[in-house]
Amino acid sequence: MISKNVLYNALDKINQNKKNADLIANNNLQNALKYSEFSEIYKLEKQAQIETARCEVYGLNNNFELDKIAQQKSKILKKLNIDESTLEPKYTCKKCDDTGYENGKMCACLKKQINEELYKQSGLNHKLNCFNKDNCKVFDDTKKIEQIYQNMQKWCDSPSSNYLNIILTGKTGVGKTYLMECMADNLIKNENIVFWTSAFNLNQLLLKYHTTFDETKLDYISNLLDADYLFIDDLGTEPILKNVTVEGLYNIISERVENNKKTIISTNLNPDEIQQTYGERIFSRLLNKSNSLCINIENKDLRLIKK
Ligand SMILES: [Zn+2]
Repeated sequence: MISKNVLYNALDKINQNKKNADLIANNNLQNALKYSEFSEIYKLEKQAQIETARCEVYGLNNNFELDKIAQQKSKILKKLNIDESTLEPKYTCKKCDDTGYENGKMCACLKKQINEELYKQSGLNHKLNCFNKDNCKVFDDTKKIEQIYQNMQKWCDSPSSNYLNIILTGKTGVGKTYLMECMADNLIKNENIVFWTSAFNLNQLLLKYHTTFDETKLDYISNLLDADYLFIDDLGTEPILKNVTVEGLYNIISERVENNKKTIISTNLNPDEIQQTYGERIFSRLLNKSNSLCINIENKDLRLIKK
């Protein structure tokens, strides 16, 4: 599960929409019921609905004509100048009626809300960049970078891809974060749960996990483990904490690979430096050719022109 507070906050917001819609409709109904003419037909309709259901269960003949009662009710409301549709709750999400679940599955609206909660924790404080035809205009070697963008967009659109890990390497300023944002944006729009973290923040979460000794411990890493897609920005810039950074990262990546969850990492380190910094185990997890794709964005070819 995604961390409890993220899920609770998201569900809370969705359910608040439901409560508001119910409250407004109920208020309108109570006001309408003050008119005796409406109140009578309303009671009659309720009684007819119950009787009809009862007759259906027991296979009895039913003398109530629900259609006629409904027509009469509409007429009365019209006369009273009351908009009939205001008596029914107007839910924000028509798919799940603001419950967050549709046929036992998370509704798209809940996923969207979860992403908003995750986004608040991500340290990103701007609108994400997105894939568009102008993405590559700022680069010198347009052809090569366009190919990378197209491949990454394709990867985002193919959830069954064999590549579980995408590693974007290259010097600072070549646009790795920019590309990752386009990917995150695309994945969120496709109703995936995405968690974005800087390597620095990831390290903090791992440290908190390591130094917490009660049941809240798991809350620090559950988003890292359970998001459909985890983005780690700028791996290699965080301080390596003994018994925390390397072990924690290894566990996160291994568990994600085992659960078929995807991880996208940007780093200034080249593969040799990854091996030196994080050791053989992480190196072989991250740069395993069967399920990882390592893309080097060349600095000299791809000078980012300032806007
Ligand atoms: Zn919904």
